[in-house]
Amino acid sequence: MATEAVWQADSALVSRLEPSANHNERAGGAGPDMLVLHYTGMRDAASALARLRDPAAEVSAHYLVDEDGTLVQLVPEARRAWHAGLSRWKGRDDVNSRSIGIEIVNPGHEHGYRAFPSEQIATVVQLCRDCVDRWSIAGDQVVAHSDVAPARKEDPGEFFPWNQLWAAGVGHFVAPVEMRSGRFLLRGDAGPPVAAWQEMLASYGYPCDINGTFDDTTHFCTLAFQRHFRQAKVDGCADASTVATLHRLLATRP
Ligand SMILES: [Zn+2]
Repeated sequence: MATEAVWQADSALVSRLEPSANHNERAGGAGPDMLVLHYTGMRDAASALARLRDPAAEVSAHYLVDEDGTLVQLVPEARRAWHAGLSRWKGRDDVNSRSIGIEIVNPGHEHGYRAFPSEQIATVVQLCRDCVDRWSIAGDQVVAHSDVAPARKEDPGEFFPWNQLWAAGVGHFVAPVEMRSGRFLLRGDAGPPVAAWQEMLASYGYPCDINGTFDDTTHFCTLAFQRHFRQAKVDGCADASTVATLHRLLATRP
């Protein structure tokens, strides 16, 4: 039996509603000022949809974008969906209260990560554009799940074409600086250059402590940064290209 929706789709792009009961009130009652992009990380769209609607799973998202570009809405944008979990961006917790969560169907790293079909990306781009326009969401507030929970999450991963969002006026992106050999920082290093790198990460929004030691947190933040902004090599080393790319981003921040 189909669940009857008692609310309307927030976007004209929505094909159908598949209401999930997994939502509550946004803390403070404010509207969203972030977009968080995910991949589903499950074998197929049907199992992902079932899980996002299962009260026992206690997870949800506002939208699900299938591989053929079909857009389903599960939770009204006015409500707080449960997609980001323990997360932080620009020093603020409770990302769920402040964001719209978009799940993009892809098996993910666990079940065979693959490129996102162009039909699917076309819908994601239009949906993001629509949300950003309606809620006036700033470019550096359009993030990956891995950006806000780097130690726990890798989605939507290094195949996600952030440059295509940027070309459509969504998010923030710069051309990654070319890779060449040279000095780099990695897990276990310590000293002022590490603190400087941590300061850059934290200043952009990453949940990185500034303690001068390239610890696990710094490693995972560096990985997350590369997955989003320097996808050619995602290894957690702050090489010259990675550092220069973040410099470029900070200098062009919207
Ligand atoms: Zn996710």
